[in-house]
Amino acid sequence: MDILEAKIRLDELKNIINENNEAYYVFDNPKISDAQYDELYRELKRIEEEFPQLITPDSPTQKVGDKISQGFKEHKHKYRLYSLDNSNNYEDLYKWYDRVKKEYPNETELELVVELKIDGLSCALSYEKGELKTGATRGNGIIGENITENILSIKDIPSKLNIPVNIEVRGEVYMPVSSFERLNLENTERGQKEFANPRNAAAGSLRQLDSSITKQRDLHFFAYTAITEDKTLFKTHYESLEFLKKLGFNVNPNCTLVTGIKPVTEKCGYWENERFNLDYATDGMVIKINDISKQNELGYTARAPKWATAFKFPPEEVWTKLNNIELSVGKTGIVTPVAELEPVKLAGSIVKRASLHNFDEIERLKINIGNEVLIKKAAEIIPKVIKKRDEEDLGVYLAPDKCPSCGAKLIKPEGEVALYCPNTTYCPAQIKGRIEYWASKEAMDIDGIGESVIDKLFNNGLIKDFADLYKLTTDDFLKLDLIKEKSADNLYNSIQATKSPSMTKFLTALSIKHIGKETADIIAREFPTLNDIKNAKIEELIKIDGIGDKAAKSIVEFFNSDINREILNKLESYGVNPQGSAIEKISNILEGKTFVITGTLSSPRNIFEEKIKQLGGKTSSSVSKKTSYVLAGENPGSKFDKALSLGVIILNEDEFNSLITKGNINE
Ligand code: NAD
Repeated sequence: MDILEAKIRLDELKNIINENNEAYYVFDNPKISDAQYDELYRELKRIEEEFPQLITPDSPTQKVGDKISQGFKEHKHKYRLYSLDNSNNYEDLYKWYDRVKKEYPNETELELVVELKIDGLSCALSYEKGELKTGATRGNGIIGENITENILSIKDIPSKLNIPVNIEVRGEVYMPVSSFERLNLENTERGQKEFANPRNAAAGSLRQLDSSITKQRDLHFFAYTAITEDKTLFKTHYESLEFLKKLGFNVNPNCTLVTGIKPVTEKCGYWENERFNLDYATDGMVIKINDISKQNELGYTARAPKWATAFKFPPEEVWTKLNNIELSVGKTGIVTPVAELEPVKLAGSIVKRASLHNFDEIERLKINIGNEVLIKKAAEIIPKVIKKRDEEDLGVYLAPDKCPSCGAKLIKPEGEVALYCPNTTYCPAQIKGRIEYWASKEAMDIDGIGESVIDKLFNNGLIKDFADLYKLTTDDFLKLDLIKEKSADNLYNSIQATKSPSMTKFLTALSIKHIGKETADIIAREFPTLNDIKNAKIEELIKIDGIGDKAAKSIVEFFNSDINREILNKLESYGVNPQGSAIEKISNILEGKTFVITGTLSSPRNIFEEKIKQLGGKTSSSVSKKTSYVLAGENPGSKFDKALSLGVIILNEDEFNSLITKGNINE
């Protein structure tokens, strides 16, 4: 590229970037993805590095943000706010570290703080003698928007600090992913525009001229910077985070102090995958020099501190082609459409399939085979299809009317969105689904019996249902291709080892519609034997706390069906006998309390679950407002964040033990 070509491309890039800056910063309505924006920005930077004589003050590399929107009062920042330089590869991180370390030749390694880069909107809060005076957006770093009134509606932001200091606190206002999804759903129902992502939802909610709208939105705040004239309060960034906690702020729990750059890349690698378990969006990691005096020595460029940098995760959203819609029939007959995609890299892995949920969702997205679709990885592991290209109209994929496995006419029960195959007894896909579920980790946990072995056993006529698994011999397994003697023995033994399951496990494994593990446990506790359950009446069942109409009806239907009775008889004849309710109640001290367990505890989770149930409590797999306590071990997952956001009491193991022995939580 010669200088003339460089100038032409630079002008083009500056125009495109500036236009997108306005859409993003002023109107909270981006037209391109962040990854596409970052690509353009990096190209601009590369050309400017090659031709520094072409750098002009209006270049996006020389400024922060964009102009501020009309309507808010301007706020002149006391201390300037900057952006962050970023890269998307470890090589650049090493280069940054080498550059900084060169300034300190006498030190072997430098202390760094690695933090999650929260994808929200940065805010600067000024406190005088501990009282909140103003809250402002970053704007162009020198002038921001005065949004004090809106800031006051965020519960995480204290209007009075625990210590009466003069301080500027900076951090990120964000919207939890779950609240963002809820807001978008409500907006669609009201015919209003959806927000592109949680960051835009947070920015759009915070920068409302009418603060009563901000108040209705679920906004939160993580503090990450403290600036004060009083140099005695903290000397390092890590200490400043501790100080922020003392003042009453939420600081993200995943900030780590490390020495040297190697552990930084380990953290980046870890969070690249783990971030999907958080209930807030993060687009990367921020790495900061810990020592504040060194930060001051290193200083700033026109746009960003030299003492910090960001590592951006690969994009979470990507466009690809919808090659086919596969119809999968589940163990209870639900027919689910699954998107088969042109393979594409998303958030670190190659994605070939994405969830489409149900046929109403296809109708809502107005998609068809052949469309270009945007896919996204959110908190769940399986990515989902978000939308199709607006301009592409290939019609809408029509829901099938026949079961793709057995050809039965599909039905849609009243009040449900799912389409069902009603041929519960003979539909091969449903039977195979139930056998797979019986053997799965969630149910009987039979080692080595997965989809492909079940397919072979079923297709060779060796099994017709899950009860038949127990009549299989080692020789039967040897009849299957690819199975050697030793693994045939292993498969036989692992099936035989599951003949005395707890009643909860047994009931869960039966694949009764509407009966998951929690409901199975409630039933197992109420009825001492399988015979009692078989003979239970609907009226009896619905009286039990935790069993609704649908579940009660489904249990009675299941045990009244001839084919199911036949399977149960077969199980009995092969010696499979559930062992009554595994959990005997010994006291009522946790009566009415629901627990959710997350993270690694000193013993396996089921030990704690049993303890809770023995003491009259309940356990659940997800956190909601009804949850009484979250018992959190090491490295807790998204349930911990959800508990924080809902204000549910979080107990560590000691506190839990104190609660069950003394009836209260020790300090
Ligand atoms: P940035 O978001 O890349 O990084 C700086 C910001 O990170 C800070 O201002 C702060 O708000 C935030 N941050 C989050 N956690 C932090 C922590 N722990 N410590 C310190 N800071 C933390 O920079 P930017 O200048 O705000 O925006 C540039 C980025 O915005 C681009 O890289 C792009 O991803 C996005 N953008 C997208 C479009 C678009 O059209 N899609 C347009 C403009 C900007």
